[in-house]
Amino acid sequence: MTPADTRHGLYPHLLAPLDLGFTQLRNRVLMGSMHTGLEDGRDLGKLAAYFRERAEGGVGLMVTGGFAPNIAGWAKPFAGTLSTSGAARRHQIVTKAVHQAGGKIALQILHTGRYAYHPLAVAPSAIKSPISPFKPFELSARGVERQIRAFVNCAVKAREAGYDGVEIMGSEGYFINQFLAKHTNHRDDAWGGDYSQRMRLPLEIVARTREAVGSDFILIYRLSMIDLVPGGSSWDEVVTLGKAVAQGGASIINTGIGWHEARVPTIATSVPRAAFAWVTKKMKAEFATAGITTPLVTSNRINTPEVAEQLLADGSADMVSMARPLLADPAFVNKAAEGRAEDINTCIACNQACLDHIFVNKLTSCLVNPRACHETELVYHPLTDSGAPKKRIAIVGAGPAGATAAAIAAERGHEVHLFEAAGDIGGQLNLAKQVPGKEEFHEMLRYLRRRIDTTGVRLHLNTRACAEDLLAYDVVVVATGVVPRDPKIAGQDDARVMSYVDVLQGTKPVGRKVAIVGAGGIGFDVAEFLTSEGHSTALDLPAWLAEWGVADPAQAAGGLAPQGPQPPASTREVTLLQRKRGKLGDKLGKTTGWIHRAALKMKRVRMEGGVNYERIGEHPEGAGRRAGWGLAITRGEGRADPQWLDCDTVVLCAGQISQRSVFDELQARGRIPGQDLHLIGGAFEAGELDAKRAIDQAARLAARL
Ligand code: NAP
Ligand code: SF4
Repeated sequence: MTPADTRHGLYPHLLAPLDLGFTQLRNRVLMGSMHTGLEDGRDLGKLAAYFRERAEGGVGLMVTGGFAPNIAGWAKPFAGTLSTSGAARRHQIVTKAVHQAGGKIALQILHTGRYAYHPLAVAPSAIKSPISPFKPFELSARGVERQIRAFVNCAVKAREAGYDGVEIMGSEGYFINQFLAKHTNHRDDAWGGDYSQRMRLPLEIVARTREAVGSDFILIYRLSMIDLVPGGSSWDEVVTLGKAVAQGGASIINTGIGWHEARVPTIATSVPRAAFAWVTKKMKAEFATAGITTPLVTSNRINTPEVAEQLLADGSADMVSMARPLLADPAFVNKAAEGRAEDINTCIACNQACLDHIFVNKLTSCLVNPRACHETELVYHPLTDSGAPKKRIAIVGAGPAGATAAAIAAERGHEVHLFEAAGDIGGQLNLAKQVPGKEEFHEMLRYLRRRIDTTGVRLHLNTRACAEDLLAYDVVVVATGVVPRDPKIAGQDDARVMSYVDVLQGTKPVGRKVAIVGAGGIGFDVAEFLTSEGHSTALDLPAWLAEWGVADPAQAAGGLAPQGPQPPASTREVTLLQRKRGKLGDKLGKTTGWIHRAALKMKRVRMEGGVNYERIGEHPEGAGRRAGWGLAITRGEGRADPQWLDCDTVVLCAGQISQRSVFDELQARGRIPGQDLHLIGGAFEAGELDAKRAIDQAARLAARL
């Protein structure tokens, strides 16, 4: 395939159509499968609205979140299933919405096997997975046959429902993968044993599905190209399966990276962009040698049209899969096609409102786009549509909450004045972007700046608005954010004690031995910042692969380096402390907390909970210890003799408190007739403050002003 076409502007490869013979895709963007929570239950109307918006946004082919082919394959009790004609009829609302918008959509068939979170789980062998409490039942040979028939039936029902195809989920450690790997398949019948027997299951599923659905139906197979688990498939095995699946009837082969139980991050923000595209590229070379032309899709941490175009241009793949980037911006493809890439709301790979929600059974959304999966309820109606009056609105504070509210209100047609005391917008985002592995925050700032520019917000930088300045507005929104909490530790007024703001802004020198007071998100970020010493492996793929012990799967089965993780050395000694007992970082993201903890452990950061901060200062020589300076702590209730942690810098990361003096001042004056006053973001509530809540609150307010 040589897709380069000069008609497609800046992204000729990305925007070139893909001809599958019986059908054409309008471009090379595959919206990867992502469970949203809208799949579960009988009413799929909201799922239809969600996909309609993405089809209108220009995506070439979309894949739904996983639907189980039967009850045994459920991810959790009563998960979305497609196995009957009645269910197929209910799905038509989705397929019709997508087709009306000019899009194409495939249904993902997901059988979770031993990953199932319910007691009816089945697997090749009765071996419990590390990520589900339920031990699966070992399938009999007839049971295996029943699962194959369920896959085929599901595909037939998908066609009946109007889908353009199906994706057979063969990666991420789910049911099919469990048959492929020796460590999860201990069978000695025709479905176990050597690789030719272990790979029979996917081949039977693909062949029988193709036979049942006919030749004019898209069949995507998601192939686990690098398992990232001990005992994972060898490269020879992956290539053998890939070729056999292609020759056995798959229309497209998608790339799966890592099993869910893998201890290597694969999609978090600290993973370099396109970190695994080289694996798909290896497969492309194998296919080329064998004369196989089945299109290959590459995946993981591809979030801009530039990166996607580059991958296609350098021959890494024939299509790119993006899932979260299309949650963040449904119009991603159209904006790229119109040469407006700077208007794309970029996914920052935080997982905070998408995957973290799914793991606690909450509906998915998106931190940077609260409308995702809420398309029918959060609508930004222009004033011209609703006939609502145009208002003069003052928004104080241009952090994520203020900037979001301003852009939405202005876009709807209001006159919006945004006041910011600093010389730039962004508030706390300007600190977050300094943290190695959080570079994507630059994109969020770029997008917010662009929104302010294009929606006509009148931005007043370096302007500290006071109550007096705000009296003449119809609406005042106070979004003045937070200030660091003062932990009031005796001796903290020493020059060697500083706040995280000083550290992340680089305004004060930090020593080699550091104690960090407070182990919330910011304590972890500061520890990462200090031990990375200016080098971010998120921007250095070879260093990142070494850090997490990822190897070429052709050299090491499963792609795990035999020498294990090799983190960059840090000469800083950092101790991270909290008063609560128990594990540090337990409030970090559900799907990312383990990565932060593992990264700091690799850099030998000492972590301790259950401490009391007694004082900071000089201590005299004492039992086996020289005189020095540091932080005195005690442990537990007893408050026995303090132990001195010798260090040369103490960083305070003790959380934040709301900054709301303007709001209090306005309230103290009494209500101004005709004026509405609102408080949002960190200024509204600092505890557990995060950008997700701030942006969501701002968007919902701006939608109804
Ligand atoms: P935080 O998460 O609330 O953590 C504050 C830390 O300070 C806690 O470890 C707390 O633990 C300690 N602390 C509270 N009061 C203290 C006091 N009086 N004296 C000493 N220590 C005290 O706040 P944050 O770290 O500033 O983060 C702010 C927000 O940004 C949070 O919602 C956080 O989740 C979010 N954030 C998230 C990430 C992420 O990676 N997802 C990264 C950065 C920030 P003890 O009370 O046990 O000592
Ligand atoms: Fe991307 Fe974060 Fe939005 Fe998920 S919540 S789609 S990771 S920006």
